[in-house]
Amino acid sequence: MRAIDLENRYSAHNYEPLPVVLARGKGAYLWDTSGRRYVDMMSAYSAASHGHAHPRILDALAAQAGRLAVPSRAYFNDRLGPFLAELCKLTGLDAALPMNTGAEAVETAVKAARRWGYRVKGIARDRAEIMVASGNFHGRTTTVISFSTEPDYRDGFGPFTPGFRAVPFSDLAAIERAITPETAAVLIEPIQGEAGIIVPPAGYLAGLRRICDAHRVLLILDEVQSGLGRTGAWFAFQHEGIRPDGVILGKALGGGVLPVSAFVATREVMDVFTPGSHGSTFGGNPLAAAVGLEALHVIREEGLVERSRDLGAHMLARLAAIDSPALKHVRGRGLWVGAEIDPAVTSARAACERLLEKGVLSKETHRTVVRLAPPLVIARDDLDWALDRFQDVLRELDGVTRRADAALALA
Ligand code: PMP
Repeated sequence: MRAIDLENRYSAHNYEPLPVVLARGKGAYLWDTSGRRYVDMMSAYSAASHGHAHPRILDALAAQAGRLAVPSRAYFNDRLGPFLAELCKLTGLDAALPMNTGAEAVETAVKAARRWGYRVKGIARDRAEIMVASGNFHGRTTTVISFSTEPDYRDGFGPFTPGFRAVPFSDLAAIERAITPETAAVLIEPIQGEAGIIVPPAGYLAGLRRICDAHRVLLILDEVQSGLGRTGAWFAFQHEGIRPDGVILGKALGGGVLPVSAFVATREVMDVFTPGSHGSTFGGNPLAAAVGLEALHVIREEGLVERSRDLGAHMLARLAAIDSPALKHVRGRGLWVGAEIDPAVTSARAACERLLEKGVLSKETHRTVVRLAPPLVIARDDLDWALDRFQDVLRELDGVTRRADAALALA
């Protein structure tokens, strides 16, 4: 296949794609170059939560592209204010700093936390520390991988940025023990996505809020993947009725068509940024702002948060009812589930390859987890169809079908 050969020949080999060449998308469907249709159970790691080619988002994109796209933040523009106001209203926070990719918004949060540590909390110069969780994923820049605990993400890329400390995820006592007077912030995913959709016990976020308040430490949540409806709430922190000091958003904020991210925070935190201290050529451009605002409107007006909650509960219940030696465990929240495959039976990669053959696109994470995270617009029938295929794949892989066939042949 020429497209695969060309990518293999000219691309860096930093991905290991499944053998399908996609050419078109609409809603929860993707088509390959031969016209075969697939159900998308991956939605570009939440970036395509609105589905592919959403008509309202395409209209906003085209209209704004023809009006004004990238004038730079050297001037005000008429799209940025309304977009940031909506972000603040939705999060319950005061101010937002727009960037492009998730990793850049994480970097922004790290800078904000450090400066807040020095200028507001009074930590001695260059001593501020940020607490993170083991197994975290916050992006790929050199500072962000400096606080990854995953050898694959770090090997060969040192020296690393100091000032971070990892403690076990889901362990409130460990966080509290590790906090010192030099701790500026706890930076954490409310549900760990790339680690395999790891859901912490109920009360974890509320506990973090309590500990951070007690020690005057900022609580910053990375909701790049969990935010904007994915877990059945606008933001995962709402499940526990807390307000973080800062939240990082990306992926779905771009409506599936552009990279749009933001760090949203309290006024006290955001005011550490002064003119010239931080910025981005493309961050906050009117094209991104128009698309981002429309992406937020679509989520609300199409009830995507409620869809995620209801269809997600249905998906989790269906998966939990599967009795297969290949499937060890399922967990998740909203339309975001990790299915833990028993490595003694098969691999998550093998499951994803078979799903692909059956017309379902998913992606393994960490060798043992199949990620099931369709666009929030998916029709219930399509979801059920994809889950039927997943069940078929498990049955094939765990050999039940073969054993049953053999028994039938003998009978
Ligand atoms: N934070 C989280 C929680 C993520 O899941 C990701 C991407 N998987 C990122 C940050 C980085 O986003 P980006 O790839 O847009 O830099």
